[in-house]
Amino acid sequence: MADSLDTSALFQIEEPEAPRARRRAAGRAIGIDLGTTHSLVAVAPSGAAPRVLADAGGNVLVPSVVSYVGADTRVGVAARAEQVDHPQQVISSVKRFMGRSAQDIGFSHPYRIVSADGVIRFDVGGRRLTPIEVSAEILAVLRTRAEVELGGAVDGAVITVPAYFDDAQRQATKDAGRIAGLDVYRLLAEPTAAALAYGLDRGDTGLFAVYDLGGGTFDISVLRLREGVFQVLATGGDSALGGDDFDRALAAWLIERAGVTAPDHGQTAEALHVARAAKETLSSEDVVAVDLPRAGLAGFELTRAQLEAIVTPIARRTISPCRQALKDAGIAPEELDGVVLVGGSTRTPLVRRLVEQVFRREPLVDLDPDQVVAFGAAIQADILSGSPREGVTLLDVVPLSLGLETMGGIVEKIIARNSTIPIAARQVFTNYSEQQTAMTIHVVQGERELAADCKSLARFELRGIPRLPPSMARVEVVFQLDADALLTVTARELMTGAKQTVEVKPTYGLSAAEVDALVTESYDRAEEDFAARSSAEARVELGRVALAVRAALDDAGDDVSVLPAEEREQVVGALADADATLAAPSASGKATDAVRLRLETVSEPFARRRMERSLLSGMQGKRVEEVERAIDDEGDLDARRGGHGPELTGVGHDEG
Ligand code: ADP
Ligand code: MG
Repeated sequence: MADSLDTSALFQIEEPEAPRARRRAAGRAIGIDLGTTHSLVAVAPSGAAPRVLADAGGNVLVPSVVSYVGADTRVGVAARAEQVDHPQQVISSVKRFMGRSAQDIGFSHPYRIVSADGVIRFDVGGRRLTPIEVSAEILAVLRTRAEVELGGAVDGAVITVPAYFDDAQRQATKDAGRIAGLDVYRLLAEPTAAALAYGLDRGDTGLFAVYDLGGGTFDISVLRLREGVFQVLATGGDSALGGDDFDRALAAWLIERAGVTAPDHGQTAEALHVARAAKETLSSEDVVAVDLPRAGLAGFELTRAQLEAIVTPIARRTISPCRQALKDAGIAPEELDGVVLVGGSTRTPLVRRLVEQVFRREPLVDLDPDQVVAFGAAIQADILSGSPREGVTLLDVVPLSLGLETMGGIVEKIIARNSTIPIAARQVFTNYSEQQTAMTIHVVQGERELAADCKSLARFELRGIPRLPPSMARVEVVFQLDADALLTVTARELMTGAKQTVEVKPTYGLSAAEVDALVTESYDRAEEDFAARSSAEARVELGRVALAVRAALDDAGDDVSVLPAEEREQVVGALADADATLAAPSASGKATDAVRLRLETVSEPFARRRMERSLLSGMQGKRVEEVERAIDDEGDLDARRGGHGPELTGVGHDEG
């Protein structure tokens, strides 16, 4: 058996459909930043530097607004112009609705929404449209823009999404791309795109914060780059905070200046429009002339200082999410290697100063904060279309979770479904008994709780585990998925360094329908799986306790000072019950737990006496401090035992 344990054994798992069956056209891919307020498209063909694409009028940003007034649809500036007069037929900020059901929509909006089967639709007068269809209109405009630029069809696209977007939101975004006639190579997290654009992936390692203040949302992300992989360590923000709030505050202030106490709809709309333009001008000028004809304000000289006084309280609301994100990521501002600014509102000098204070460094501003996300998407799209590019990471996602079978046939997920690849994840496992000198590493893929219900990918053994008390041996298992979806599993016993490596090719051949079916099945079976899992876990626990008690019994022999006769009888009885329960696989989790509790209770005085003894014998001839330290160490040991990792199935007893 041992001769099959070649350290570089390669498990080739059948792959019915090639993952990238269609040939991609290098240099014809686009990157899209599908924003709440604005969207834009960029290209970076065949390794070239990225550039954003403008319309005939030279405008790069497309307002993310779609108008359904009249027979045909308009997108962008033209649509926005119709919004004041047709608030229900002109949809803006559709991104907030993506992948959401009626219950999720807690924010206020002017639309008529109908909801059926969990799907929401905007009633725009005659037509009922899903957020996906509305987004698709925006994407189609960007695709057309790119086709004009590239002089022909677009091959595919990378679309960015907020790092925190869940599966439904991502799926909705992907579907919108499909409806817009795009082959969505991949979705990319916005902060990762910004980091890619800055080339922050060139170093080996690094910690970065991405501060994104847009029109209506604020997102802060902390990323770690390690071995060429960006990992989002923490995200935070405020989904109702952005440049629009600056506009509202300034508009209200201007209206007050004009002496209007109860502004009408027209006056408010005018003030908002003017405030936004003035705010943007004041990012580069010290003073701007403001006119509000409807409110009767003419030639008012607004200074940057006045604007800053008005918006400071709003901008300061971004501080605490930043601190929280750093805290969640477990890092101090000084540990960061860089802070990237994203979003139009980060052009405001006040915001830059604030970021500098919070992160104690000058933020990176070389790239246009409006365009940096689209740049990163374009670079990624170019790579995925097959262009050779140096030093850039490939990112992909795992369609189904990857994990290991642990004691009781339970699956311990190591890499969760939809994790971006390449990815490396590690987990430490412990031994189940002192006799366990080898462990079975059974690699499985799927969403179910029990290994038997998942797809088995590979099985190998790690031998040479030293004889150590239960939970004391530590085996580190590392799962590494490279950019081509090749999985390498390494198991290493941390004390001896005994190591075993296997390469596994996971089942990427699953069709989308099969993946869907598997995912659905895991939802349907959740309850049944839960019962099976808790019963299996209870058995593992009971087995562990029984093993420990049996070893202690052997150790005590017939020394009645550590185990009086009648107590021994109780312990032996409880142990017999435990054995009977373990032999009956149908026992429920609850029943199994009850047997274990009884065994623990009856053997508790015995365990305490053993502990006291071992401490006493260790104390002879030692000074008080040493004894205290010994007790402390014992406490640590307990804590470590309590927090031990899951055990892998033990196999073989002896190396022979
Ligand atoms: P989103 O990511 O939500 O689509 P954007 O990144 O496009 O949003 O940011 C839009 C916001 O940026 C608007 O509030 C706009 O007024 C603001 N903005 C754009 N240019 C400037 C500027 N020069 N100074 C200050 N704010 C600006
Ligand atoms: Mg944005």
